[in-house]
Amino acid sequence: MTATNGITLRVTELKKYYGKIHAVDGVSFVIPSGSVFTILGPNGAGKTTTLEILEGIRVPDAGEIEVFGVRVKQIDREVKKRLGVLLQDGNFEPYLKVKEVVKLFASFFPAALSVEEVLRRVALQEKGSAYIRTLSGGQRQRLAVGVALVNDPDLIFLDEPTTGLDPQARRNMWSVITNLKEQRKTIILTTHYMEEAEALSDYVCIMDNGVIIAEGTPRELAARLGQETIIEFSAGSIDTEWLDQLSSFGKGVRKDGEIVYVETEDLVETMEQMLAWSREKRIPLKNMIVRQPNLEDVFLSLTGRKLRE
Ligand code: ATP
Repeated sequence: MTATNGITLRVTELKKYYGKIHAVDGVSFVIPSGSVFTILGPNGAGKTTTLEILEGIRVPDAGEIEVFGVRVKQIDREVKKRLGVLLQDGNFEPYLKVKEVVKLFASFFPAALSVEEVLRRVALQEKGSAYIRTLSGGQRQRLAVGVALVNDPDLIFLDEPTTGLDPQARRNMWSVITNLKEQRKTIILTTHYMEEAEALSDYVCIMDNGVIIAEGTPRELAARLGQETIIEFSAGSIDTEWLDQLSSFGKGVRKDGEIVYVETEDLVETMEQMLAWSREKRIPLKNMIVRQPNLEDVFLSLTGRKLRE
């Protein structure tokens, strides 16, 4: 059951201070039922603190929360029954079997899903009798999500569900999240990975220093950079004088490690200039690609910093 007005969560001017640190400094958002809402931001942005308040782990200093259509001061026991929270690094007992772990967590709830159903939802049907110690990192993380689902929650919190996973395991987790969405579950996700936010989210809030600095669908956010196209190439060592020359060809230029990024609103013109420049200066434009701006570019243009330093 979800909220009748189609809104699962509404947060207004939420604040949480730790002494002088304004971890969450007036955050407001609305999450429609059945959507994936993502909070993207660098370390220390206030993502976890926001989630912990909404999970009922922390008490806010100020702000209003409306969840499942009811206004609450803080998240209470009644609300918690309908929440699912991914525990960071499940740390399950290695000598238990997968199904025993699910059964144990299910025993905390009067009406829990069957073990089979939980394992099906996280694509671990084949692993019920496997010992935890034999699971891969990705399987363990999916089990942790499974444990968060035992009470068949309406609102699910996934705080960095794929951090540390390899690309294949990350994709497997994405398909678990997509399946949850198909069941009309409402999901709050945090991530450092912009491609994850782009792949999964209906709506993204970019948070920095305790406040939301930009929000919208992934497409709307990328569109903030207007008609820009990004040209990337690997440069190795390149001196500042060359970067200055490059910047005169486009709207902006930046270098991150070996990679040079040239932003332009006139792709053909900039490309022609860059190719002529490359020939003249004998600078190879190695691994050159042309792409549309992504959320990482949006974050960078807003803050001058990268999401992951
Ligand atoms: P990360 O991606 O690293 O998890 P985050 O966006 O989740 O970062 P938070 O963990 O919410 O950020 O932290 C926000 C700010 O609040 C940081 O400056 C952090 O150091 C501070 N903070 C978090 N918890 C506490 C606490 N219990 N006591 C004091 N300061 C805290």
